Amino acid sequence: MAMERTLVLIKPDAFQRSLVGEILARFERKALKIVGMKMFRMSPELAKEHYAHLVGKPFYPGLEAFMTREPILALALEGQEAVEVVRKIVGVTNARKAEAGTIRGDLSMSTGRNTIHASDSIETAQKEVPRFFGENELFGYKIVLEDYIYAEDEKE
Ligand code: UDP
Ligand code: MG
Repeated sequence: MAMERTLVLIKPDAFQRSLVGEILARFERKALKIVGMKMFRMSPELAKEHYAHLVGKPFYPGLEAFMTREPILALALEGQEAVEVVRKIVGVTNARKAEAGTIRGDLSMSTGRNTIHASDSIETAQKEVPRFFGENELFGYKIVLEDYIYAEDEKE
């Protein structure tokens, strides 16, 4: 068990469908700590870096066009085992196959319009958080209810 930070991107389809608040609320209710939050428009260069594993795929031009044409919201979330916890809350890539109860399973019918991105491993998260957030855009602060979120042996 370890304190981790992970990156979430709320995609343009979530903005168009007024799902931004709904998605944020799910992470808040889980007691993940928001340590960074930023609205911006992704550049094609940043999209190519972020989706480097997909640049050669036939669907990549459409993915880049979609992710860069309107603003998105980036979140850095912190918690014990946050990377795995967030992926579980998000659900699998193809939202039609995603479990009910997950963000994609409940809110989307699509792979290419699946409302959200989340880092897929600890190594990825360690690259993705600094890709989208400068040091001065990440905030360390104390949650006063921390004793009610984690037990003594879960805090480190
Ligand atoms: N994507 C797509 N078609 C595919 C696979 C992926 O449009 O066949 C998009 C989809 O929006 C996905 C993103 O590319 O969220 C990144 O793909 P990845 O395999 O990293 O899935 P994720 O980590 O988002 O679940
Ligand atoms: Mg991915």
